[in-house]
Amino acid sequence: MKQKTISNLKLWGATLLASTMLFTAGFIAGRATTPETETVIYEPTSTPVAAAPVQPQPESLGQFKVTYYCPCATCCGEWADGITASGTQATQGRTVAANPQFLPYGSEILVRFEDGTEETYTVEDCGGAVKGQHIDIFMDSHEAALAEGVKTAEVFLIEGVE
Ligand SMILES: [Zn+2]
Repeated sequence: MKQKTISNLKLWGATLLASTMLFTAGFIAGRATTPETETVIYEPTSTPVAAAPVQPQPESLGQFKVTYYCPCATCCGEWADGITASGTQATQGRTVAANPQFLPYGSEILVRFEDGTEETYTVEDCGGAVKGQHIDIFMDSHEAALAEGVKTAEVFLIEGVE
């Protein structure tokens, strides 16, 4: 009789221990899976317009100061080698220097001058003096760069770079 009580007590104790362990294990397992059950699937907020024939309007970046430079030492100092900061061969009609933090290399921009003319360029270069709302357009010769002077133009982002 005495022995049976002890063994019952032992059994009860073991059951309690096992239950506690199961509970604890279940609790841990439950905790571990909690982040998955709370995962939110983000859906695009806007529905894409199907096959819209309209060209996306370039985003206006505002009014910019426009200056011109060439690959000479006067314009580029120690960087007067015709190679842009992004590693391309500077090319008139394509290369423009901008603040790469504002307009990363590879960004395509449309420049609308005050007389209405529009030109497109690719951001390939930077310059110590090219900050904020300022672009520096590459020209083959210093005379040509000087002749253009300083202008104001509205700049649009045609194709941005992440
Ligand atoms: Zn120059």
